[in-house]
Order: sequence, then C-alpha cells, then structure tokens
Amino acid sequence: MAIDAKTTLYGVFGNPVAHSLSPAMHNAAFGTAGLNAVYLAFGVTDAKGAVAAMRSLSMGGASVTIPHKSAVMDHLDGVDDTARAIGAVNTIVNREGTLLGYNSDVDGAMRALEEKGTIMGKKVAMIGAGGAARAIGYGVRQKGGTLVIANRSASKGEALAQELGAVFCPLPELDLSDVDILVNATSVGMVPNTGELPLSVSSLTARTLVMDIVYNPLATALLVAARAKGCPTVDGTAMFVYQAARQFELWTGLAAPAELMRRTVLGALKARG
Ligand code: NAP
Repeated sequence: MAIDAKTTLYGVFGNPVAHSLSPAMHNAAFGTAGLNAVYLAFGVTDAKGAVAAMRSLSMGGASVTIPHKSAVMDHLDGVDDTARAIGAVNTIVNREGTLLGYNSDVDGAMRALEEKGTIMGKKVAMIGAGGAARAIGYGVRQKGGTLVIANRSASKGEALAQELGAVFCPLPELDLSDVDILVNATSVGMVPNTGELPLSVSSLTARTLVMDIVYNPLATALLVAARAKGCPTVDGTAMFVYQAARQFELWTGLAAPAELMRRTVLGALKARG
C-alpha cells in the first residue's frame, strides 16, 4: 500500500523506542490487511504533548510504552476498566476524535498462556513485580488462577501480592514442585546477561508450563533449563505478538494476522543476530 494523502498514521510513544519491533510488526499487518495506514516510532519525553499531537494530527491510534503508560491516562477521554485497574494504558484508540485507553498486555499474556491450557483453578507462580507483572498477575486473577508472587525486592512483591489478592513468597523459598504455571516477568536473562536465571529451578518438574516474557534472546536460560526438564514452554514473543494483535483489532475492528506478525518479529530478531 503506497503512502498518500489519505494514509492514517499510527505509532508508538516511548523513550527509548529506537529498537522497537512494533513498527515492523504493525506495518506488516496493515500491509497484508490492505489498509492505507502506516506505523512509526516516536521517541517522546512529554506524554501530554504526544496525546495532544494525536488529536491534532488525527492519528488513528498509538501504542504506549515505558515510561509513559501511566502518564498518558490523565490526558485521554476515557480509560477502560482493565487499564484503570492496572493503572497502565499501552494502547490508545482514536474513535472519531475521542481518545480511549486500553491495556492489551493483559489480553496478550492470557492468550499466550491459554493457548497451552486453562488458567482457571491453576497454581501460578510469577517472578517480578514491575509493570508487566502487574498486567499478567491481574489477568491470572481475573481468569481464576491462584497466584504466588516472588520478587527480588520483597516490599514491591508484597505490595503487588496484596493488591492482586495473591500470596508473596521470598524468591529463595519458592518451591516449584506443585506449581502448574511459572512466569518470569522480570528482565533477568535478557541480553547482555543471557546466562542468568531469575530463580533456582532445582524444584521444577515436567508438570509445569513455563513462560518467559523476555524475548531477546528467544531461548532464555530459564526456557533452556525448563525444556531440559521436559516442561512445556512459551517464549516471550507470544505475549508480545498477541498484545500487538489485540491492538490491531482495537484499531481496525478486523481479526489480526497474528501468524504474520509473529514471523515478522522472529525475522527481525534473527536479523539482529
Ligand atoms: P519493570 O517495571 O522495570 O520491572 C522489572 C522487574 O524485573 C522487577 O520485578 C525487578 O525487580 C525485576 N528485575 C530487574 N532486574 C533484576 C535483577 N537483576 N534480578 C532480579 N530481578 C530483577 O519492567 P517491566 O516493564 O515489568 O518489564 C520486565 C521485562 O519484561 C523486560 O525485560 C521487558 O522487556 C519484558 N516485557 C516483555 C513483554 C512481552 O510482551 N513479551 C511485555 C512487557 C515487558 P525489583 O522490583 O526488585 O527491581
């Protein structure tokens, strides 16, 4: 689709965004859907100004990433219940001049897990208490899973556990032997520290589904260790692709070409080496 005077503009607001894979993924999706739209990366420091620019440029929508996910909320016309509960918007939709905020990280993470089975009634252990952990933990509780949170800094982990109706467990004491689903929602294992594990896996058994949300590298040390024990695994591209697929659906009302989006992300990661 050639860019012309009717092309609708989308983009990601964040800082930094120079390495974002979202433009490649969303432009591939727009292209295959035959939409006259383009998606760019905007490195911005001023969340209020970015939202004002969306209005004045009549942008169709935007992704929002670190550090603006909370700050944009005050400048939108509406925020949906899930994003409000989490306190973070990662998706803005422009509905005929009304800017609405959503959080597609929850949907993305839940779709990634539910592809492997139900969450209802399952015991989920999650490492991490940052922004991604808050979205995943919220989704797990909404889906009827029980949740144990472990985190490097105990005070943050305890606070998130209390907020989500979960149990906090100090990281060294986390026993994985009766855990159905283990999620790494920390940045541990990400390049350049690719040898690092977020926790000891000595008590991990083949019954546990292991998801790592780090996708660079694709095969994190945690996933390699889990596979060696025979665990089913979900890599970090699943949540990333599915949260973007949900954004595409919110913006366009069309089913997202998720497989193409996944191939695009995998191709971009491979090209980076
Ligand atoms: P964040 O809000 O900064 O939280 C970071 C979390 O990682 C905290 O729990 C922090 O523990 C923990 N952590 C960081 N360094 C650590 C270390 N050396 N040892 C132990 N724990 C450590 O970040 P976020 O937005 O939640 O993102 C977390 C990771 O998920 C990032 O790698 C991000 O790229 C990835 N992510 C992936 C997706 C996806 O779609 N796949 C989506 C969002 C984020 P403390 O509380 O103790 O500091």
